[in-house]
Amino acid sequence: MDLLKTLVDKGLRRELPTRQEALAVLATSDDDLLDVVAAAGKVRRRWFGKRVKLNYLVNLKSGLCPEDCSYCSQRLGSEAGILKYTWLKPDEAAAAAGAGVAGGAKRVCLVASGRGPTDRDVDRVSQTIEAIKSRHEGVEVCACLGLLSDGQADRLRAAGADAYNHNLNTSEATYGDICTTHDFSDRVSTVQQAQAAGLSACSGLIAGMGESDEDLVDVVFALRELDPDSVPVNFLIPFEGTPLAGEWQLTPQRCLRILAMVRFACPDVEVRLAGGREIHLRTLQPLALHLANSIFLGDYLTSEGQAGKADLEMIADAGFEVEGAGTTTLPEHRAGAGGCGSHAAGGCEPCGGESAGAAGTASEAPDARTDLVAVRRRGAGTDLPPNA
Ligand code: SF4
Repeated sequence: MDLLKTLVDKGLRRELPTRQEALAVLATSDDDLLDVVAAAGKVRRRWFGKRVKLNYLVNLKSGLCPEDCSYCSQRLGSEAGILKYTWLKPDEAAAAAGAGVAGGAKRVCLVASGRGPTDRDVDRVSQTIEAIKSRHEGVEVCACLGLLSDGQADRLRAAGADAYNHNLNTSEATYGDICTTHDFSDRVSTVQQAQAAGLSACSGLIAGMGESDEDLVDVVFALRELDPDSVPVNFLIPFEGTPLAGEWQLTPQRCLRILAMVRFACPDVEVRLAGGREIHLRTLQPLALHLANSIFLGDYLTSEGQAGKADLEMIADAGFEVEGAGTTTLPEHRAGAGGCGSHAAGGCEPCGGESAGAAGTASEAPDARTDLVAVRRRGAGTDLPPNA
């Protein structure tokens, strides 16, 4: 297929596909799926070899958010039966992080629900970062605390944070459909503040919220413009008790096409397979490792992932290897002074949800699989050991 040859050539040269090319990837048929995965896999291998970076989420503060992001189980008015708790103490957070590090995680992502941190919250998180770094030498720490105010990114950087995550989630044109309490430009501004402070930026998307192919290409091209070091690709987890509970539009094939499009658009960036992979990719998860070079290990913020051991087995069975602590994730031309990435390194988001859009192609929208969504009942905020 000429399209795929062109996209591989561009990806190897770190050249941006055109919008038409990106849309064409999303419009490929299921019959062409393995060719698409193989082509994007060549680009992935060029920049990241067979390495898979493991990231581990710690939910520092769960639920009770005043914002109304419709995909989020922690939103204002959410009736999802999630764990709700206020700030974990630094020692508690460090203990939770330790489980992920012991499981092979290279990065710990500290996430808190809310519009954004107060200065006192930044103090708390700074103490938590210091506690984690003192116990786990070399671990990368990414903070994900919402919209930042002036000076907060600098303070997090000074406390030892390597990265900051804030996702764009969806296109600017449809942002108002998923959230009314802040807007797309607020999110862009926070990512830019993180970059300006020397933090590695992590910013990604959620697919599966009813968006069109054009919306997906728009948000990915907006991300490319913002130039984060890592791009988490979430697939909507349609929690019961949230406005998007009924959105089960993704198929495993559609998820792979989306990941391939992101890889072609962001060839040398850490593309992270994030929330919703288990419930939407299901048995095709290993194919996604040919596209993404990074995953979350174990559970998510408010939902359960597959067992961490199963993640590690999947990586080995598919012929990939866990990236070691001594390896720089990004290619040399992107890995800058700041640590893990070009701007300075990062990615999570207070909730990973998704389900992709209207477009579809050859695959029919699947039946709802509410049986696959399990609210997290172990790990941080509970007395039960975490999954890692
Ligand atoms: S995504 Fe973040 S800001 Fe939005 S409702 Fe969830 S926790 Fe609040």
